[in-house]
Amino acid sequence: MNNRQLFLRHLAQLSDAPLALEIVKASGMYMWDTEGKKIMDLIAGISVCNVGHSHPAVVQAIREQAEQYMHLLVYGEIIQTPQVAFATLLTEQLPASLNSVYFTNSGAEAVEGAMKLAKRYTGRTEIIAFEKSYHGSTQGAMSIMGDESWRNAYRPLLPDIQHLTYNTWEAIDRITERTACVVAETVQAEAGVYVPQKEWLQALRKKCSETGTLLVLDEIQCGLGRNGTLWAFEQSGIVPDILLLGKALGGGMPMGAFIADREIMWSLTNRPVLGHMTTFGGHPVMCAAGLAGLRVLLEQREELVDGAKAKGELFHRYLKHPAIKEIRSLGLMMAVEMESFEVNKKVIDRCIEKGVLTDWFLFAPQCLRIAPPLIINEEEIKQACDIILEAIDAVYNKASV
Ligand code: PLP
Repeated sequence: MNNRQLFLRHLAQLSDAPLALEIVKASGMYMWDTEGKKIMDLIAGISVCNVGHSHPAVVQAIREQAEQYMHLLVYGEIIQTPQVAFATLLTEQLPASLNSVYFTNSGAEAVEGAMKLAKRYTGRTEIIAFEKSYHGSTQGAMSIMGDESWRNAYRPLLPDIQHLTYNTWEAIDRITERTACVVAETVQAEAGVYVPQKEWLQALRKKCSETGTLLVLDEIQCGLGRNGTLWAFEQSGIVPDILLLGKALGGGMPMGAFIADREIMWSLTNRPVLGHMTTFGGHPVMCAAGLAGLRVLLEQREELVDGAKAKGELFHRYLKHPAIKEIRSLGLMMAVEMESFEVNKKVIDRCIEKGVLTDWFLFAPQCLRIAPPLIINEEEIKQACDIILEAIDAVYNKASV
């Protein structure tokens, strides 16, 4: 049996039609398959590889830390230099109230931890979340996911969850003294890059403060430079009570984090102790990788973080086609809206055939995803756009034959 057959046979499958590309190497903007075909990664492993695939500084940090030590003990007991250094550098980049980091293994675990923390800190049970939001696939994170068709198969889920419409004033009115926390993506990613009004985020912040509700902002997908600033919340001049990070946080390795003020985080410490436990969260090799990735991002901030905005604008400039209904974006997270999922899927397939890997969105299947490593340059943007435009032409020409 070949690897494809073994993959289908021994790995749990999530759809009838996995991409099933067999990749043997990835570096920077590109992946290579078993035939030596070079594929440009236009989605960065879904917003993970912000500094590119296998960045040499990240690889070196992993190697050095693995030689020094790997797992020592469960989270929180031993002082591990890469953990301390990473938490310190991260909090130095954040407002003063986001000073205490809990490292997890994934984004969903960060969401779980934050929901527990909010309940424990406020003594309340109600959690408000939004339609078309995605926060992960574990049962707690899924309970706040904004789509009933996905949730329904797993009921009963967590009680006392309200799903409201994002970016609406009615939603603000529904936050009360009963609400433990509001969990919102600063930019709704899987909705097809839906950027809320600044005034709405500001009103959300204000209402949470008035009612003693914790504001949890999920920047697992949009954070760490992708949005054109280091943190998307900066653009609205607000600060969350709890910030959620993941995806790009580990520089290509699995990591998440929930970050809050020490005074809030303290709720996990006593009565009972060990309020949130993890064996591997904050693994030293992952922290070393994340630290190296963050250093790269900060050292090349102008090109990678500030540059994300200008690079996003280049995509807007080059992607002109009558079949494109709209392009929504913030920095280098973009949704190119096509007529339907059927058309979009054909365009995506054609792009992959031509050597550009792209995808659709969970709650916006008619939209083509653009979220490349932040290292992408103008020439690559032009190449990618040419291939997308050519794919759209091919799909429509075929359809009209
Ligand atoms: N939050 C957002 C906004 C996400 O996009 C994702 C994953 O796509 C998650 C949370 C969950 O992260 P993970 O897949 O690491 O559990």
